[in-house]
Amino acid sequence: MLDKYNRKIDYLRFSITDRCNHRCFYCIPLDTKFLPFDNLLTTDEINILAQIFSGIGIQQVRITGGEPLLREDVVDITRKLSKYFRISMTTNGSRLRELAESLKEAGLVSVNISLNSLKEDVFFRITKGQLKPVLAGIDAAIKCGLFVKINTVVSQLNLNELPELVDFVSKRGIPIRFIEMMPIGRQNKGTIFEDQILEKLSDFDLKPVQIKIGQGPARYFITKHGNYVGIISAMSRSFCKSCNKLRLSCDGKLYPCLGSTYYVDVLEKLRSQQVEQLSELVKIAIYNKPLSHNMKDSTVPNTMNRLGG
Ligand code: SAM
Repeated sequence: MLDKYNRKIDYLRFSITDRCNHRCFYCIPLDTKFLPFDNLLTTDEINILAQIFSGIGIQQVRITGGEPLLREDVVDITRKLSKYFRISMTTNGSRLRELAESLKEAGLVSVNISLNSLKEDVFFRITKGQLKPVLAGIDAAIKCGLFVKINTVVSQLNLNELPELVDFVSKRGIPIRFIEMMPIGRQNKGTIFEDQILEKLSDFDLKPVQIKIGQGPARYFITKHGNYVGIISAMSRSFCKSCNKLRLSCDGKLYPCLGSTYYVDVLEKLRSQQVEQLSELVKIAIYNKPLSHNMKDSTVPNTMNRLGG
């Protein structure tokens, strides 16, 4: 379906849980209180929503969180959604070693794995999590044939490590995307902008390339070794003009934009037996998708783990 600015909206990011076993400083505050399990969409509710979203033209769903692999029924959810959509996932990778095969068999096609450092101490400072399970998860995902990309949010803590991260992905033949930090649930400070990121990578002789890898907003470059490096410059360059996304939070609120405070409470409609109104409400949310996120001038009063990055 088209929004009022004629953008075709066919991509849904869906946070299936706000819980996470990591505490990335740019994403989840250390003292986060998680939602009661009853507030999360159930697999049956997700199934009803899948039919509605499919009916209004959504073609691709990215399952995210929180950490989606912490949800016990993640394989079942993947299987149900893959009947209607092309399924991708964003994960911290820490449980992928156990789950990659089953997810692939359930219909998962591609996976973006967060990797912010290759040094255990720096990894811990950024995420409060352990590096080894993540590295094992990356290799398991590649081995079972999932299409893998690496996501790195750039900060002062890992800026000097960007070349090592590019070498790491080059050895595995997978793309990496460096992400500018956004002020979601946090103050607008500490963002490392794309100019600084590109400067750190100057030894790789990056050349811009016109390719699209997946549905994301990254602009890609090719290194002198033939590896793809993407930059997601949400702050220094707006890509809102071509945004095709909706976001469904784990507690069933549909946001037409990451920076938006306006949402449709689909969980409330589902639980008060007003399912027949849902399709119309989703269409209204799409039609009213804002022209841009306006994050440069404000902090978004939401958290990434609930809303889904
Ligand atoms: N737990 C999973 C993970 O770590 O990838 C999925 C959820 S996480 C919210 C999804 C994506 O959002 C990750 O790529 C993460 O790096 C990104 N992200 C979270 N907070 C961000 C922020 N403030 N600015 C930019 N990207 C952010």
